[in-house]
Amino acid sequence: MRYIFILFLFFSCTNQNLKSDIDQKVDDIISQMTLEEKVGQMTQINLTVIAKGPNKWESSFPMEIDDNKANRALVEFKVGSVLNTINNTAQKPNVWFNNISKIQDIAMNKNRLGIPVIYGIDAIHGTTYTDGATMFPQQITTAASWNPENAYNMALVCAYETRASSIPWNFSPVLDLGLDPRFSRQFETFGEDPLLVERFGVEMIKGYQGLDNDISNKYNVAACMKHFVGYHATISGKDRTPAYIPDNVLSEYHIEPFKKAIDAGAKTVMINSGLINGIPVHADYNLMINVLRNNLGFEGVILTDWEDIRKLHDRDKVAETQKEAVKMAINAGIDMSMVPYEYEQFFNDLVQLVNEGEVSMERIDDAVKRILKLKFELDLFENPVTNYEEYEDFGSKKHHQLAYKAASESITLLKNNNDILPLKGKPKILVTGPNGNNMRTLNGAWSYSWQGELTDRFAGDFNTIYEALQNNYGRNNVKYVSGVSYKENGSYYDMVEDNINAAVREARNSDYIVLCLGENTYTEKPGDLNDLNLHQLQVKLAKKLAETGKPIILILNLGRPRLISDIEPLMSAVINVYLPGNFGGDALSDIISGDVNPSGKLPYTYPAYPNSLLPYYYKPSEVQNNAQGAYNYVGEVNNLYDFGFGLSYSEFIYSDLKVNKDQFGFNETIKISVNVENISEIDGFETIQLYSSDLYASVTPDIKRLRDFSKVEIKAGEKKTITFDLPVDELAFVNADNQLVVEPGNFKFTIDRFSKEISVR
Ligand code: BGC
Repeated sequence: MRYIFILFLFFSCTNQNLKSDIDQKVDDIISQMTLEEKVGQMTQINLTVIAKGPNKWESSFPMEIDDNKANRALVEFKVGSVLNTINNTAQKPNVWFNNISKIQDIAMNKNRLGIPVIYGIDAIHGTTYTDGATMFPQQITTAASWNPENAYNMALVCAYETRASSIPWNFSPVLDLGLDPRFSRQFETFGEDPLLVERFGVEMIKGYQGLDNDISNKYNVAACMKHFVGYHATISGKDRTPAYIPDNVLSEYHIEPFKKAIDAGAKTVMINSGLINGIPVHADYNLMINVLRNNLGFEGVILTDWEDIRKLHDRDKVAETQKEAVKMAINAGIDMSMVPYEYEQFFNDLVQLVNEGEVSMERIDDAVKRILKLKFELDLFENPVTNYEEYEDFGSKKHHQLAYKAASESITLLKNNNDILPLKGKPKILVTGPNGNNMRTLNGAWSYSWQGELTDRFAGDFNTIYEALQNNYGRNNVKYVSGVSYKENGSYYDMVEDNINAAVREARNSDYIVLCLGENTYTEKPGDLNDLNLHQLQVKLAKKLAETGKPIILILNLGRPRLISDIEPLMSAVINVYLPGNFGGDALSDIISGDVNPSGKLPYTYPAYPNSLLPYYYKPSEVQNNAQGAYNYVGEVNNLYDFGFGLSYSEFIYSDLKVNKDQFGFNETIKISVNVENISEIDGFETIQLYSSDLYASVTPDIKRLRDFSKVEIKAGEKKTITFDLPVDELAFVNADNQLVVEPGNFKFTIDRFSKEISVR
């Protein structure tokens, strides 16, 4: 019989400690609260609901609180939380300060218990809704740097600038596994690999909440992990559509990054707006209570996503009435409802449900305790609003440099025929394509507005790709002709042909073509896609330009890997900038000129075909050979570029892969080392990636899994030995009984082209 070594992944957290100061204060307040006051604390509204303007959905500029509306929501209905901006538009820090001060004034001085409001916002690659904030690369770009320090820096700056905007709570980071290239929010993730998501995610928590998790510190914010859990694994590849995920898959790939973030102290979580195995996650007691609370030991606030209690009735049809939906969600574990408009109805329903005995007072007290505790931890009772005047580094050079650094370490060189790059001297360059001369596409969505359509208005001071290349090569040497451009068309973005012929004419007069293709900005439902291929007009432009015979450097500026197999062979070089933020143009230009040596590597598999959309950790049956190995049907050979791939101007040679022993016990640590030599004349950074393959297991093992990585600088001519210490229990997988196990047997380690086998007994 096989001996199975069971690791204790799931632990229950019992807090035997004496009651802390904060717990005492929370208990004191709760003991004085009426049911209505408690339900108010569980209610979150959109800012437009209490701002001046025609209705709940639309406000007038400038942003100002409407006394009557605010009194009704914050005093009559005792609402405890507000989110978002007005009309999806970024505001100046002083506007935030004035508005949030007013909100706190009303909430704290007109209610008998003086409880502050907790304000929450989506600041996901910088402080999205604040004019002048530092916009970093999006998460997917940051992951491509393979340097988690960039995620830490981003979160540190973002926490600072969010507090400078008087806001203490950030709906970030995204810990979803970005495993589907079709999904409209892949760019919001750290990519397809659970280890990357986990490593970068934990750094984000540290950056937001501080290394000591002291969120009373006026430079830290409370983080909100989202969207628990399995959000991206839908069948259709479209936002908020059904996913079917077996428990062991959910545990091993999707839950693990949340577990690590909880262990790092994450204070709050937002729930997946979709459904898994037919159950909307907002109604799933098992996921919220058994898994999140009991197994993972999460003690913070559980928040819904946008209108998601409503959707249990309106969209998902599991609740016959709105009231039934409220009962389901609250009893399944929701602490706070992002209502965010019809708050009266949510409030009245929940009060009635408690009075009718359908929701217990214990459940209400449990939710309210967590919310009040968070408010105390954030020091909101003492300091309900932070003042921008005390944040002199807001939007500073120091912050900009960190954003530039993240972009320059992330941008990924995917092809460089005959070392055409870097472009030295002062060649004549044509910049063309719809992404060549705007700030909007460099930033993506969640930039100054939800869909990012206002970016060029707010980020005009920063350099587009065209402008940055002009700065490096001289104004007269760099021309821009769009060729094709994006055209706004209702809720999705179409393309129009501008002047392909003019682009071709200009190409003939140039030495190089920098062809900037990709996507316009989108997220959530507006980003749903029916065709992963790059838009046909962009393909047409590429083909026409290729006919000139001039070398083309293709710049991909996109939120997900759109298919380019048709045109890729026509390109001399390919660079993926993903969504690199306000300094993406500068970083790219410095890579093209050779001032920066590229070091990014793909955090996802770049597919070649629409029917081969697998992450790198697929099962062996995806590649089927006949008995003699003569036929290779389908598999990794079909990717355009592999996960973890990215070129450098340096050349690195690997050798001497070593493992310290052949056989290991379950509690041992494996030492794996490899030599990497930079045989070029250019200093560079290389990311060494350690993969393991379980050769046989009770659940068919993945072909390989990333187990560790390290990005190191290796100077020209230098040779370094890189060593990984891998505890045997990190070879574990989740078996059919949903237990994390290491089964005895043989494992193979791979770094670069080399592998070594060991056994675990
Ligand atoms: C998104 C969340 C976001 C929330 C608040 C939702 O539509 O799914 O990620 O935090 O809106 O803006």
